[in-house]
Amino acid sequence: MMGPPGAGKGTQARLLTQRLGVPHVATGDMLREAVAAGTPVGEEAGRYVDQGLLLPDDVVIRLVAERLGAADAAKGFVLDGFPRTVPQAEALDAMLARGGTRLDGVIQLQVPRDELVRRLAGRRVCRACGTLFSAVDGAAASPCARCGGELYQRADDSEETVRRRMDVYEQETQPVVEHYRRLGVLREITGTGTEEDVRRRIASSVKAA
Ligand code: AMP
Repeated sequence: MMGPPGAGKGTQARLLTQRLGVPHVATGDMLREAVAAGTPVGEEAGRYVDQGLLLPDDVVIRLVAERLGAADAAKGFVLDGFPRTVPQAEALDAMLARGGTRLDGVIQLQVPRDELVRRLAGRRVCRACGTLFSAVDGAAASPCARCGGELYQRADDSEETVRRRMDVYEQETQPVVEHYRRLGVLREITGTGTEEDVRRRIASSVKAA
């Protein structure tokens, strides 16, 4: 699941994993958990995540390789937030080829930049279950409507850091989109409208696989 910050990757990846019954492998979530738990990876990750900068490729590639090696990922997975650089994409291609598999599809959510900025400024996340809420549609009032947990604003959703994350996306991650376009697996999906609109577009694209 690809797309710039605020495009709806996390929300739509969660919906898709529920439908497919496969794990949601979200590197951003994994890194934030590692930071909160104070693991060695977390200690390294904190300063990158807070500043909206990408971690070194080898760290993230190792994390994903370990996660995809777990038993629950044997029948498939939805990747969210990985790969974000061309070396990460090449490492993933090699990782999957070694396991005799490949990506079925790459979804790229497309949303205009001014809407992304608006969405991120109002975004809140549940500390307990990770569900994402939007102040734009008035659903961001604590507690979490799903589990009752506390909602918070991500440190990297501040205006300056959002701008940096968008630049990083254009410079580092847009070439990954082109990589998948060349491989013929890219599916460009309009990411505007309601959550349900986008879910339906993805569902019909994934069904056509
Ligand atoms: P996300 O939740 O996907 O927006 O990711 C939050 C932050 O985690 C990013 O701004 C990066 O600092 C870090 N991160 C997540 N995924 C990656 C990745 N594939 N490569 C490098 N850094 C990552």
